[in-house]
Amino acid sequence: MTSLNFSKIYYTKDALNFPLSKKIIRRFADAKLVAVDSPRSLCFRAQKEPQTVSECKKNLFLTTRREGFIEKCPGTKGHLCCNYFVTKNILGCPMDCSYCYLQAYLNIKATTIFVNENDFFAEFEKAAQKALRIGSGEFSDSLIFDEIVDQNKTLIEICSKSPSLLELKTKSANIRKLLNLNHRGKTVIAWSINPQKIIETEERKTSSVYERATAAQAAVEAGYPVAFHFDPIIHFKNWEKEYKKTVDAIFPKIPPGKIAWVSIGALRFYPSLKPIVRERFPRSKILLGEFIRGDDGKFRYLKSIRTEMFKKISGFIRKFGSDIKIYLCMESAPVWRKTFGRTPEKIKNLDLIFR
Ligand code: SF4
Repeated sequence: MTSLNFSKIYYTKDALNFPLSKKIIRRFADAKLVAVDSPRSLCFRAQKEPQTVSECKKNLFLTTRREGFIEKCPGTKGHLCCNYFVTKNILGCPMDCSYCYLQAYLNIKATTIFVNENDFFAEFEKAAQKALRIGSGEFSDSLIFDEIVDQNKTLIEICSKSPSLLELKTKSANIRKLLNLNHRGKTVIAWSINPQKIIETEERKTSSVYERATAAQAAVEAGYPVAFHFDPIIHFKNWEKEYKKTVDAIFPKIPPGKIAWVSIGALRFYPSLKPIVRERFPRSKILLGEFIRGDDGKFRYLKSIRTEMFKKISGFIRKFGSDIKIYLCMESAPVWRKTFGRTPEKIKNLDLIFR
């Protein structure tokens, strides 16, 4: 994984007096500072300017928002929902995965950090009283900014005293700051997983399978429950052999009782992502599969391909623990039935997630 580096820091004036802004500006002292009147002046249309997405990765935008730091994951039309809440304190990610939906979703020429963190913490604390599963890996990577932004410590502490569960989802191995915290088992550290071959071609600037597995092992030693997301799984030549190799590289290191859950989800994307991938990742293989367009407008592999992959990969995982909770991400009831014979509310332990 490469270290963080930014060439420009945009800011709105109201952001400048917050301690977090000062810390970030000090840390990236070589970055050019640019004042903007409002986020609107940084807007662009990703589909029309795919090359601008690359520029976004090099810039930060420091600003504030009054509320809206937590929201329910919208799920996807016609697919079973796992009742997940997501944080929106950081929008964007300096790592660079070819399939990342944020490339088409975000329209600001920088990774946005809302620096009024006490407002975020207050909203998070209020939400955490409602016994939710809250994740911070939907609009950014949960740990990539940990060395600078350092908010996970506070979120972990809030959840340790609340009925909620926090999930920190990452493709990094940045767990050093989390190892000595009093989490009381209320934070799950989760790794997105793909075979090393996919990491090398489709997940630029992320940690290797070995680094992710070693970090997961260290998290378990520090008492954390861990989770793994095989998402998005990619259909490519030798996928079966490569996913098996990946499962075999991780699961022997982790006691099954410490695995909170494993999710499996196949590659899916809106048409608006296609031109961006073609322009930014001309050697990417992710658009080469056979896709159908679902009711939600997203392209997915054919149902027969998805179910075959789900069955095979969950079978590889089950060899390391027949009770490991495995769920499918954004899939329909028929696909659940074809893969596991049942829908999640009828599967022991998953009924708590898919209420
Ligand atoms: S690590 Fe996650 S958020 Fe970051 S670029 Fe990759 S998919 Fe997007």
